[in-house]
Amino acid sequence: MPAYEAVIGLEVHVHLATKSKLFCSCSTNFGDEPNSNVCEICSGMPGALPAPNREAIHLAALTGIATNCEINRRSVFARKNYFYPDLPSGYQISQFDLPICEHGHIDLDMDGTPRRIGITRIHMENDAGKNIHSQHENASFVDLNRAGVPLVEIVSEPDMRSAAEAVQYLKELHAIVTYLGISDGNMEEGSFRCDANVSIRPVGATALGTRTELKNLNSFRHVQRAIEYEIARQEDVLNAGKHVVQETRLYDAAKNVTAPMRSKEEAEDYRYFPDPDILPVEISAADLEKWRESIPELPSARRNRFMEMAGLAMAEADILVQNRALADFFEEAAKAATPKKVAALILGPVSRECNARGLPLNPQKWQIVPAVLAELANMTVSGVISEKIAGDIFPEIFATGIMPSQYVKEKGLAQISDVSLLEKAVDDTIAANPAEVEAYRNGKTKLMGFFVGQVMRQTKGKANPALVNRLLAEKLGQK
Ligand code: ADP
Ligand code: MG
Ligand code: ZN
Repeated sequence: MPAYEAVIGLEVHVHLATKSKLFCSCSTNFGDEPNSNVCEICSGMPGALPAPNREAIHLAALTGIATNCEINRRSVFARKNYFYPDLPSGYQISQFDLPICEHGHIDLDMDGTPRRIGITRIHMENDAGKNIHSQHENASFVDLNRAGVPLVEIVSEPDMRSAAEAVQYLKELHAIVTYLGISDGNMEEGSFRCDANVSIRPVGATALGTRTELKNLNSFRHVQRAIEYEIARQEDVLNAGKHVVQETRLYDAAKNVTAPMRSKEEAEDYRYFPDPDILPVEISAADLEKWRESIPELPSARRNRFMEMAGLAMAEADILVQNRALADFFEEAAKAATPKKVAALILGPVSRECNARGLPLNPQKWQIVPAVLAELANMTVSGVISEKIAGDIFPEIFATGIMPSQYVKEKGLAQISDVSLLEKAVDDTIAANPAEVEAYRNGKTKLMGFFVGQVMRQTKGKANPALVNRLLAEKLGQK
């Protein structure tokens, strides 16, 4: 049996974060009363006159700029004709031979191996409505709130070779669109969803195999598992001497299988033609220039910088750049303290508090400001408080947002680094434990830990441990 190689291309649909729909002023708000955000334009009434949403065009162009695409200053909306009950106009407004962005790429880091995934095109389109079958035994309903919501579809080249690569590409894309405020990226609400095209071919072959298309995968995990399943299924088909059928398949997450949904349409089935009601989209050179300049450092570049700056592993730095507010927060705090210490606070205690309180790892939902983490990091480094006390007081600091210096002062928790105060505790400990002192002096030096513990108990954990060790060593050493 030949060894096979998988070939994967993704089509990703991303809801643009505009307030209103693509061709009318209806709200794009998710979860409103069915059919409350609908007008004659987005319900596809004949004679209604659609007008493109400027902000949607801006966000679509940003997507292209951030993925190294060429931006077409002139692009054209086209009608994609098909019938479905959630599409009352009988056509979707999309872009066909003149999309807004083309010829881009995203660079991935696969465990240190660079991989460049080509982006064929990014086009704009409006979303369809939603059929609801679950409310009545003999009737289905249609909710048109989503009809007309602006989307970009990002079509990749068939450049990925494994499920892991597909997931990495998708995560990178997700980071970019959420980072730039292009989309809320909410996968459960369908704001970011993916169709995976999968084929296999004998290793070494250059021609593409017949592909299947896995529709509407709405989590990274589903993408991973659906593609893995599909690769294995196609291998079984070929190994049995049969042919893979080009078709659209659905992934059933509960059973972890893919099953046929329909045979695949070709572009010509849709009878695309330029929409006669909508003028071509023109982007001025000045706008394009302004939009290019507005692009900040992208998450992958920022992640690499954080890795360098704080000595972090890629997975750790990935957490810090998962949203822009968090990355900004880290960076702000790291200006005023050791970056590695600040990162450790975010990845450790802050994450734990967020988990415990059901909060997202997003500082917009927290009480603390960056200076709180910087100060806490500095107080442990300079020995004002011990690591242990820092850990103990953290939940209250996180909950209230109080500056650690103020908290420590109010509660009298500052570490004792005053030699005369500590000397007394050390002397008391030595006087109270003559047997252990004797044993220590006879060579049982392991007992040092015991003495340190005793001094710590006396000082309620506030003694500076390095100083305690030094004083004990001095005093126990003398006869
Ligand atoms: P459609 O809208 O009909 O699905 P496209 O021709 O634009 O069509 O292709 C969609 C996606 O399928 C692209 O991401 C492309 O890279 C991918 N693709 C095309 N051929 C193959 C193949 N043989 N194996 C895997 N992916 C493929
Ligand atoms: Mg497709
Ligand atoms: Zn409308």
